[in-house]
Amino acid sequence: GPQVEPDPSKKTLVVLGTGWGSVSLLKKLDAEHYNVIVISPRNYFLFTPLLPSCTTGLIEHRSIMEPIRTILRHKKASVKFYEAEASSVDPERKVVRVLDTSEIRGDVIETEIPYDMLVVGVGAENATFGIPGVREHTCFLKEIGDAQRIRKKIMDCVETAAFKGQSQEEIDRLLHMVVVGGGPTGVEFAGELQDFFEEDIKKLIPDIADRFRVTLIEALPNVLPSFSKQLIEYTESTFKEEKIDIMTKTMVKKVTDKTVEAEISKPDGTREKITLPYGLLVWATGNAVRPVVKDLMERIPAQKGSRRGLAVNEYLVVQGTRDIWAVGDCAVAGYAPTAQVASQEGNFLAGLFNNMARTEVLEQRVRELSGSLNLQPGNAAEISKEIEEHERQLRRIKDIKPFHYSHQGSLAYIGSEKAVADVSWFNGNLASGGSLTFLFWRSAYLSMCFSTRNRLLVINDWVKSKLFGRDVSRE
Ligand code: FAD
Ligand code: NAD
Repeated sequence: GPQVEPDPSKKTLVVLGTGWGSVSLLKKLDAEHYNVIVISPRNYFLFTPLLPSCTTGLIEHRSIMEPIRTILRHKKASVKFYEAEASSVDPERKVVRVLDTSEIRGDVIETEIPYDMLVVGVGAENATFGIPGVREHTCFLKEIGDAQRIRKKIMDCVETAAFKGQSQEEIDRLLHMVVVGGGPTGVEFAGELQDFFEEDIKKLIPDIADRFRVTLIEALPNVLPSFSKQLIEYTESTFKEEKIDIMTKTMVKKVTDKTVEAEISKPDGTREKITLPYGLLVWATGNAVRPVVKDLMERIPAQKGSRRGLAVNEYLVVQGTRDIWAVGDCAVAGYAPTAQVASQEGNFLAGLFNNMARTEVLEQRVRELSGSLNLQPGNAAEISKEIEEHERQLRRIKDIKPFHYSHQGSLAYIGSEKAVADVSWFNGNLASGGSLTFLFWRSAYLSMCFSTRNRLLVINDWVKSKLFGRDVSRE
């Protein structure tokens, strides 16, 4: 859009984050009604469902990134973007404090941005539960950088294991890939990893072929706790075929640079301590609240009881405020922290804001018309009719329904071209697992909110990997 200066007659809408929630909002928002400012340390949208595929090079990371500048270019009015982190929000003064945390910094690295309306969509950070060694020695799987780091480390472990004279014991350690957390992230990553090994590494480096091992550790009695029992069993038996070890009822307590220490709960109620040597450890134990969100919660008395994020009402307004909304993983609205929920929330808010703006325009027009009614008595009938029409429209758009989440189902990839799906369609529940589900999984993701450019890139990556194998160069 054209570059214009902020219009003082419009409200300033500040949006924090460029993830699922914020980007869905931005895509649907009629930006001409507001002075829109977007703030995020990441100048792109990341299609997280395919992130596990980037850890093995099945998909190249840039194929699942979409520059925010490209997304914003399609808006009718100009939207400002600042690459920075919101470090705090002051709800009294209605300002956001922002900080440039990227490598290159100019003379100004910190400033304040005032808002009339604020949307918080900063997502969540990785939970570590304060377990010693996690931050220092493990890899998370949330951002592009995490996937790149893992990809590099897998190959480093493999090449180091193949080094001349390496002892059997050390080869076993280096080729032991441990995943902590049996939620969808951990399960999908374990599946991708095993595929990588079966389809490529084994052929390229046959000498170490029989030593590669993947172990998935989960504290609860089973993996994928949010899926149906049937699909949990299907996943567990598929993993057995794939030779992925699942250790359930096993809680990790400590991590060192080469070992992971855990406690197994035995059926008789006793506990057993174990120590497993590893080469690569991926930590996928779910979400924790970001500091900026925690800080904001402490400033709002009504948020006192909330632990997992900003408590919002059914219109996604942050409880205890009038002009702050929250979407996605940082909001507590009673739904799971998923992309599906975040994008529906973002969509909802866009509709709400578009409505609010249209209401204001119509109300302004009604005021003008009412004023002219006295000045032009000859046109009274016509003007009254127009007023009536506007008021009818106003009643219709003011009747905004609260946010309602519509669950489209859960899908997870589990390796060897199989996926599991819990889908509720046709008034019934469909639980399915297998290769057809895998094709469904792929097409579902391709058809999701994704640009044509990204779709082509992902298809290209899939075809390339199928024909030539994954690229095992270590960057
Ligand atoms: P995010 O998408 O995480 O976006 C947060 C944004 O805020 C980012 O742009 C970030 O850079 C920015 N930000 C962070 N800190 C600040 C700050 N201080 N100031 C300003 N901006 C900030 N869900 C599904 O439904 N289906 C799936 O298949 C699926 N697969 C997943 C696979 C993986 C590997 C992972 C990690 C998650 C997956 N999820 C999936 C969950 C889904 O990605 C999240 O629920 C979703 O990203 C939440 O959206 P969000 O907008 O709240 O946060
Ligand atoms: P999660 O919260 O779903 O799972 C984390 C798991 O780690 C839990 O099962 C927990 O019991 C376990 N755990 C915690 N501490 C542990 C410890 N010390 N030792 C062993 N196990 C421990 O986390 P996730 O998989 O990262 O998912 C986060 C969110 O993103 C969820 O809402 C999920 O639905 C969504 N997501 C969805 C998909 C998909 O739909 N395909 C994929 C990835 C993520």
